[in-house]
Amino acid sequence: MRPTLLALGLALGLGIAGSTLAQATAPSQSPLTALTKDSGTPMPAEQKRVHFDHAELHIAVKPATQSIEASATLTFSALAPTDVLLVDLDRNLPVSAISVDGKVLTKGAWSNPEGRLRIPLPHAVAKGDKVVATIAYGGKPHVAKKAPWDGGFVWSHTKDGQPWVGSAVEGEGCDLFWPCIDQPDGKPDLVDLYVTVPKPLVAPGNGVLVGVSEQGNTRTYHWRAKHPTTYAISINVGPYQELKGEYHSRYGNTIPLHYWYLPGEEAQAKALFAEFPQLLDFFEAKIGPYPWGDEKMGVVETPYKGMEHQTINAYGNHYAKDGSGFDWLLQHEFAHEWFGNQMTNANWDDMWLHEGFATLMQPLYARWLDGDAMYYAWLHRLRMMIENEYPVVSGTPRTEEAVYDESRGGPGQDIYNKGALMLQTLHHLIGDQAFYASIRELVYGRPDPKPGNFTPQYRTSADYMRIVDRVTGKDYDWFFKVYLYQAALPKLDVQRRGDTLDLRWQAPQNLPFPMPVEVQVDGNVHTVAMEGGHGSLAVPAGALVTIDPHSVLLRDEPRITAFQQWMKQQRKAAKP
Ligand SMILES: [Zn+2]
Repeated sequence: MRPTLLALGLALGLGIAGSTLAQATAPSQSPLTALTKDSGTPMPAEQKRVHFDHAELHIAVKPATQSIEASATLTFSALAPTDVLLVDLDRNLPVSAISVDGKVLTKGAWSNPEGRLRIPLPHAVAKGDKVVATIAYGGKPHVAKKAPWDGGFVWSHTKDGQPWVGSAVEGEGCDLFWPCIDQPDGKPDLVDLYVTVPKPLVAPGNGVLVGVSEQGNTRTYHWRAKHPTTYAISINVGPYQELKGEYHSRYGNTIPLHYWYLPGEEAQAKALFAEFPQLLDFFEAKIGPYPWGDEKMGVVETPYKGMEHQTINAYGNHYAKDGSGFDWLLQHEFAHEWFGNQMTNANWDDMWLHEGFATLMQPLYARWLDGDAMYYAWLHRLRMMIENEYPVVSGTPRTEEAVYDESRGGPGQDIYNKGALMLQTLHHLIGDQAFYASIRELVYGRPDPKPGNFTPQYRTSADYMRIVDRVTGKDYDWFFKVYLYQAALPKLDVQRRGDTLDLRWQAPQNLPFPMPVEVQVDGNVHTVAMEGGHGSLAVPAGALVTIDPHSVLLRDEPRITAFQQWMKQQRKAAKP
């Protein structure tokens, strides 16, 4: 998630519905270090020595003081001998005590100068051995000013003044509120999350609810989640009401459905909840089994727009209507259960694997529900927003923030819009069967996913290129080398000379681009093979010619560039 406000407004053809409920406060707070502010920064060798087995997090949320009091018991297996543990944690959450394998460390034994907590181990740990560290910490977690576009806690209130709290930390990472390995591939195998809140507040969380216990004026929710994405572990607190149901999957399993919403919105909540089974129908039919069927499909209403929190998707779209007949934000975030949570980019440089696929799911769903008009209308809106300033993939490791930051050469919104339209072109090029086969391999690591026979996958762009080659039996590197690794789009030069139509691709850097082109001549569609990037077709004089009549080719189109430039000028002129 995290499209820009502008992109969202354009995508919907609407202004952004301002939040009347969410009045997040952003008090003056200590700045984040460069390390904390970003996710996926280079890992020191010492941090790579361990595998993250288990995180047991106890987090007491105190809305009255906008603070947390927490302890984390982290279990690691040593992949190599080590005498130190390094975990990422915002230094603005001071650590009060640490014990390792039950042995209390003396104060001052650990240090956290820049957001990476260094814990010297009282004894060296051999390869294959386990080490358990318990870290007590707390304070005021970083507050987001404009979640989810920047990350942190959102301390908000419902209309009737009750606390409404959420966390969204995709850009900055898990280290904003718990000690973690702040990397896309830093997922613990298992997380037990205990969230303590003042009564009568409710704390929906990731995975399954193991139990709720009461202590005086507070209660503690115990959630357990397998392989949660690091930034998808979330805190949600509010006076929630709950809708529950069940979905009987085509794969034979039954998936619990839960929606936590604010009181007073029952009718809208029920209407949104009624979309859940249809969403599962679509994704399970087109992509494959819901990855967390033995946990739940969970959604919680949040005081910010949305985020793909695993099995507890954040929803803050205010039940907006846009004429599509479904809630696009819910559909987008839910798509991330497959593209982001089950299949996770190995490095943020490959983030289009999350956002490109997740963005394509809205037009595909629109078509699945209502046919071609919605599908093409959606694709057209995405096309208008493609910028082509920088390549979608740089080919070198990048942090999450750098991907969004165009001043640092990041592709920004192109990971969404260009990613999605590139996939639409690929879909047409390799055909329906190969396209969905490639997605299944990418997401599940096997062609025949069924509940229980797959585990989460870390993926790179190169992985997907190899998968497409394998399922098609052909070499499509030329396709990805142009669309993913070049900023500019390929241009199709069209010349009509006498009875001949000449077509020539001009790809950036003169790269090979043998993309077939459909040409409609007086109502008949011909496919020009374009071997060597060039082809021609006999066209009778006076015949009506339409290039790419089914709009499947993502290419440079002067009319769109002209529109984008005009829009820029209009915006500039409108500024006071
Ligand atoms: Zn997204």
